Amino acid sequence: MNAKEIFKKTFWGPTIAWKYLFAKPITITVPKVYREAAERYRGFHINDWELCTGCGTCSKICPTDAIKMIPVDIETEPGEKAEKPAIDYGRCSFCGMCVDICTTGSLKMTREYIHISDNPNTFFFMPESDGIHHNNFPIGYVRDEDSELLDLERVEMEEIPGAERVNSFIEFVKGYSKEQAIAEAARCVDCELCTDVCPAHMDIPEYIETVFNDDLKRGVEWIYKTNPLPGVCGRVCTHNCEAVCSIGHRGEAVAIRWLKRYIIDQTPVEEIKKVANEEIIKKANKKVAIIGSGPSGLAAAYYLSLMGYKVTIFEAKPKAGGVMRYGIPRYRLPDEALDKDIEVIQSLGVEIKLNTTVGKDVTLEQLKKEYDAVFLGTGFTIGKSTKIPGTEHEKVIQALPLLEKIRDYLRGEGEKPEIPNSLIVIGGGNVAMDVARSMARLQKMEGKEVNVKVVCLETMEEMPADLEEIVEGKEEGILFFPSRGPSEVIVENGEIKGLKTVCCTSVFDENGRFNPTFDEKDVIIIEGDMIVEAIGQAPDYSYLPEELKSKLEFTRGRILVNEYGQTSIPWLFAGGDIVHGPDIINGIADGHRAAEGIDRYLNQ
Ligand code: SF4
Ligand code: SF4
Repeated sequence: MNAKEIFKKTFWGPTIAWKYLFAKPITITVPKVYREAAERYRGFHINDWELCTGCGTCSKICPTDAIKMIPVDIETEPGEKAEKPAIDYGRCSFCGMCVDICTTGSLKMTREYIHISDNPNTFFFMPESDGIHHNNFPIGYVRDEDSELLDLERVEMEEIPGAERVNSFIEFVKGYSKEQAIAEAARCVDCELCTDVCPAHMDIPEYIETVFNDDLKRGVEWIYKTNPLPGVCGRVCTHNCEAVCSIGHRGEAVAIRWLKRYIIDQTPVEEIKKVANEEIIKKANKKVAIIGSGPSGLAAAYYLSLMGYKVTIFEAKPKAGGVMRYGIPRYRLPDEALDKDIEVIQSLGVEIKLNTTVGKDVTLEQLKKEYDAVFLGTGFTIGKSTKIPGTEHEKVIQALPLLEKIRDYLRGEGEKPEIPNSLIVIGGGNVAMDVARSMARLQKMEGKEVNVKVVCLETMEEMPADLEEIVEGKEEGILFFPSRGPSEVIVENGEIKGLKTVCCTSVFDENGRFNPTFDEKDVIIIEGDMIVEAIGQAPDYSYLPEELKSKLEFTRGRILVNEYGQTSIPWLFAGGDIVHGPDIINGIADGHRAAEGIDRYLNQ
């Protein structure tokens, strides 16, 4: 290139581009011609917030990390998080895996595919049900059977059939094998919704993962962080966690309870003790007395021992365990499972003084002098009565003493209870079911036919007993008389002949309060020669001296405590049924909380 050409290019060159400043633009405005997307087009998402639980599974599976869970200001129900997915369309590859795995089916894709903006923030978008531009575009890609990513069916648990299991008190739920447990654990999507609902906030997805990885020692470690009675809870926990399990929205909830049982049943007690003892964190050198060896007392003892406290439990009965030992029947909770849990707790140095009734063998004032703090976990032990005419008859008995008698008899430690030809159980809760199913077994073991009738105010749908208890009871031959209010025990020549009942038209009033109404003209007599009342229990505070009792605050028979289980008397803590409802896992959570509260109180 000569000098003239170089001058021409460098001086005039830029001016050639300037002429396009005044030319007609050649950029085509989009959309010039809108093209309809295909029926299963993967366009922008929509999300039905009414269905979406904020589980975050879509976010976890996203291969391009395009989905973030963002806090939102909404009211939530148990089993929901106040979070919703937001999608970064700068990263989204429109693969649709989020839609395939969405646990509730709330997330879908539309056929909308155009979004133009010079604001990059608008490409990060939290879909709601009307789409990115709120224009209700037609739905495009949705999951179908072939693209389902969740395993919706629970691994079946082997159980002895109803007609066979009613012949004995053998535990009829067999437990998972290793292969079954791993397959069941693989169904969990690690959303943690169950953890939020569990009263003890157990690390559920963490211990489920240890089953999947076949690392049960680690599973024991996770479990004992929040629950020192896992052999019990793995069998009889009310498992509210499963009610909110993400997989349960479109399929069967993960069998959380059975997986916990699997970990504990498969780990020898000596291994569990090693794990539990590794956790002792400090030596506190102070003494704590616990009254009652039920779930809350044992849990408090375990966590206090971990903190180095010297713990003594005072138990009125000859064996430890409270309702777990003397209430829940053996076919649901064998002694061996409870013994294993208690052996681990005692391995930390917890002393259990059996046959020692506070208020009789030792007073609360004495405990106050000898110990630095006292925890009350005495439970609900007094049965309530309907007080209808005839309940004074000797063959109208209370549920709890009967269940205790049955358990003692089966251990070879007590007399055989009277086994009637025809039994009526009044009540619709789990205790009523425990009595009915236990007595059905005793009838069969005596060579009789099952003849047990459950009478309750509630409809079948309203019955407070766990659904599985009702279903299993029916399989065992128990008959149900729902919506019946007992009005009189029929006695002829000194013998019970039956129970007169009237129709219960409603159990609760418009404010949700227990206020049953009856149709007195609708009368049915249910035949039977013995009646068990199982309509609820109340606490027995007779061991509390009046002077202390007057300083405590009560609400509807329960002791008021603060967030640390501390009563209005600073050295006195309480938990379990006398604070919350009758539920083992709530008792365990109370015991744990109170242990932390006692530690805090003693270190002020
Ligand atoms: S997977 Fe479905 S339910 Fe869960 S957060 Fe994502 S959109 Fe919501
Ligand atoms: S058990 Fe269910 S609720 Fe719990 S983390 Fe797994 S999928 Fe979520």
